[in-house]
Amino acid sequence: MLGRLAKWLRIAGFDVVYSNRFTDDELVTLSHTEGRILLSRDTRLLIRKSVRKFIFLESDRVQDQIRQILRTTRTERLSGVLTRCLACNDVLLVVPRDQVQGSVPPYVFETQSTFKCCPRCHKIYWAGTHRQAVIRTLKQLL
Ligand SMILES: [Zn+2]
Repeated sequence: MLGRLAKWLRIAGFDVVYSNRFTDDELVTLSHTEGRILLSRDTRLLIRKSVRKFIFLESDRVQDQIRQILRTTRTERLSGVLTRCLACNDVLLVVPRDQVQGSVPPYVFETQSTFKCCPRCHKIYWAGTHRQAVIRTLKQLL
């Protein structure tokens, strides 16, 4: 149940595959074939299977988990904050402003100059008021 962590890591720009429907075997296979670090709170999963790269999450608090991951991966700077779709993990693409008219609320269209779009689910993103708060939170965790 690491859905909130997955979302925060995507906000921070990490390439994160997440689904609560993956079986243990699928998780291990994905980790191997895609060279991914397996994140888990389940010691049995990490010990029983021959997992090469993993981080055992010590805390069940999301903020502590993020801090542990940043420390373990020696991440000192976040260069990709808010560049991924939070639902799909795909890297967002910039879309011309005139192409989003009618697809975003009128107030947003009038007040924002830059829009990004997920190539998979086509959700449109813009720099909302929560952007600064998100960046501040992540900087505190670094
Ligand atoms: Zn998407």
